[in-house]
Amino acid sequence: MKMKRCTKCGEEKILDAFEVHKGRTDDRGSRCKVCRNKSYKREYAWKYVEVNREKERERSRIKVQGKKTVRDPFRQAARSALRNAVAAGVIVKPSTCSQCQDTGNIHGHHHDYSKPFDVEWLCSICHGKAHRKQALRETGA
Ligand SMILES: [Zn+2]
Ligand SMILES: [Zn+2]
Ligand SMILES: [Zn+2]
Repeated sequence: MKMKRCTKCGEEKILDAFEVHKGRTDDRGSRCKVCRNKSYKREYAWKYVEVNREKERERSRIKVQGKKTVRDPFRQAARSALRNAVAAGVIVKPSTCSQCQDTGNIHGHHHDYSKPFDVEWLCSICHGKAHRKQALRETGA
């Protein structure tokens, strides 16, 4: 039986252990199937790492953008200052929405977070609308 030495592992194997490689002198590749599979796996793993790294980068980019809007220090400070002022009785929270006069869960809406007590008292519906309007203004500017 014809034998061939694998250039990778150096083992002498039967020709069937080598992949068919047309155009070679013996129509077989220089590496045995085992070695070829190993390098395939490595290549695949490498590609997988590359793809994931790209995805990871994409994800962290989104995370950073997302945090920017959530982690607005003025907004956080204004909200807690207002909450404290209402709790201390410094500011009286009305029971009706200043826009639709609806009663219920009234929120203090800030037009400017640097003025924590300068708020508009709105129900959750009007508050949501106010923020959507604000967002539109900001993206349109
Ligand atoms: Zn081999
Ligand atoms: Zn608001
Ligand atoms: Zn309302």
